[in-house]
Amino acid sequence: MPAASVYANFAAMIRSLFIFALIVYLLATAAEAREVKIAVLAFQGSERAARDFEPTVAHLGRTLRAHHFTMVPLDLAGISKAVEARSIDFVITNPGEYVDLESRFGVTRLATLESRDHAVPTDTVGSTVIVPNRPGHAATFAELAGLRLAVVATDAFGGWQVIWREMDEAGIATSKLAGLVETGFPMEKVLAAIRSGQADAGVLRTCLLEDEIADGRVKPDEFAVVAERAVPGFPCQFSSRLYPDWPFARLAGTSPDLAKAVTASLLTMMPVEGRAWTAPQDYTSVHALFRQLRIGPYEYLAHSTLIGLVRANWHWFLTAGLGLVWWIIHVARVETLVRRRTTELTREIQEREKAEQTARLHREERDQFSRLGILGEMASNIAHELNQPLAAITNYAEGMTRLIDAGRTDPAMLRDGARGIAGQAERAGVIIRRIRSFVRRREVRRESLDINEVVRETLFLFGGPAGRSGVPFHVHLDAGLPSLTADRIEIEQVLLNLLQNALDAMVGHEGRGRGIGVSTARSDDTVKIAVRDHGTGLTPEVEAHLFDTFFTTKPQGLGLGLSICRTIVESHGGRLWATNEVTGGLTMHFTLPLSPEDSR
Ligand code: ADP
Repeated sequence: MPAASVYANFAAMIRSLFIFALIVYLLATAAEAREVKIAVLAFQGSERAARDFEPTVAHLGRTLRAHHFTMVPLDLAGISKAVEARSIDFVITNPGEYVDLESRFGVTRLATLESRDHAVPTDTVGSTVIVPNRPGHAATFAELAGLRLAVVATDAFGGWQVIWREMDEAGIATSKLAGLVETGFPMEKVLAAIRSGQADAGVLRTCLLEDEIADGRVKPDEFAVVAERAVPGFPCQFSSRLYPDWPFARLAGTSPDLAKAVTASLLTMMPVEGRAWTAPQDYTSVHALFRQLRIGPYEYLAHSTLIGLVRANWHWFLTAGLGLVWWIIHVARVETLVRRRTTELTREIQEREKAEQTARLHREERDQFSRLGILGEMASNIAHELNQPLAAITNYAEGMTRLIDAGRTDPAMLRDGARGIAGQAERAGVIIRRIRSFVRRREVRRESLDINEVVRETLFLFGGPAGRSGVPFHVHLDAGLPSLTADRIEIEQVLLNLLQNALDAMVGHEGRGRGIGVSTARSDDTVKIAVRDHGTGLTPEVEAHLFDTFFTTKPQGLGLGLSICRTIVESHGGRLWATNEVTGGLTMHFTLPLSPEDSR
């Protein structure tokens, strides 16, 4: 075998061995390389995210060969879910999302992006509010009132929350806007919304407008910036304060060694398009934003305000509100019912009062009628009664005339005559006064009465006729009776009726000689008055109708007396009844109650 051929064979063998060893080595390292997933917030779409952060991922892959780094572009909700599920190891996101993840899942920043071409390299995150560049366009936050504002998402940091804070500070509540138009990612959709007329203004992250102009997608004078701020050396137009740039953060569960290696690698990365990773920055300004807006980790603060409290406990407030509404309706209903019932009752009471008044008038008229009736029956007796004093007066006057004619003008005798005249005239006057007061139309008047005195007065009024008819009176009055409250004239009327009936029953009757008995006595809480005659008594038929109105057995009778008597007695709270006497004749009884004051 020629030496050259041996050498060639040996070289081929060595090459094969080397290739084999290389393959074994590559396979071994590939098997060893663990996959490390880096989630990236793709606010401008996956492609843009890849373009922005691919250099970082490639750099990590190059410097940490034991690991295989993969980029996972996600939206806000996707990142939150991935962190919660621990399906990723690192996350590159905006400062707002980072602060939220930090408080919720213990995500920690390892490095912050910086832009070397900025005056403040790490403070680059802010927002730009744009409006179509027309004359008279809105120039301040206050002038956004009434406009529709396009935002990429209401939970986007640079896309909305940063501007929300500025508007809040400028005193423009979001409720003053005509509305927020959510376009969704990528953020270029905000421009499209304004162009299509869906919105009047829009919110972009800082420098997006300049990027778009540089790429020729937006004409330089197409949009104007609202409430523009100036930070010397900052290359873009913007409307808000600036916040630290995006952090590169690790999850709580990511291995510390890997995190350390990744941090070291990031800090050594060369700037790409002027952007590189630097030491992790202070994100307290982002916390301040959240605290002011009471969102994210500070959402609980919203609950300390009344509206927040209502929002958090809306179901309780709804229940209470419904309860309140029910109660108001209930109260209003009850009130209406009560008012209606009161009106009905008032009307009923008025009607009853009217009916009572009518009844009282009828009764008064009937009483009056009855009294006139009694008077009519007694007329001849009364005339006789008056005749006596008149005759006596005549006698006195004639006697005195004779004495004067005879020249006997003895003053003592003339004084006796004049006194006699005066006494008789007084007696006649009393009789007339009694009759007048008895007949006079009058109102019921209750007063404290000595019933014995009332009986005596009535007998005085009635006694003349009775005595003249030859019927004797037997009067037994209980001396120890207390006074009672009653209407004097009404009680007299009852007594006169009973006496007249007694007298009528005895006219032409053999029992008349035994006379009429009148008595008063106390019985428990009442005073009982009885008028006993020795007349005809009652037949069963008369007894059955005794108190019926217009029932009479007398040719000139009215049949009203006893029914009126009963009404009067009962209106005093007493009772009127009749008992046939075994020994002949009838007793009419009536009671009058003693009130507690009376019986003392
Ligand atoms: P009047 O006296 O006008 O008839 P009353 O109502 O006073 O009306 O009496 C009704 C009737 O009762 C009398 O007509 C009489 O028949 C009967 N009556 C009343 N009192 C007596 C009495 N003391 N004895 C017998 N009958 C009487």
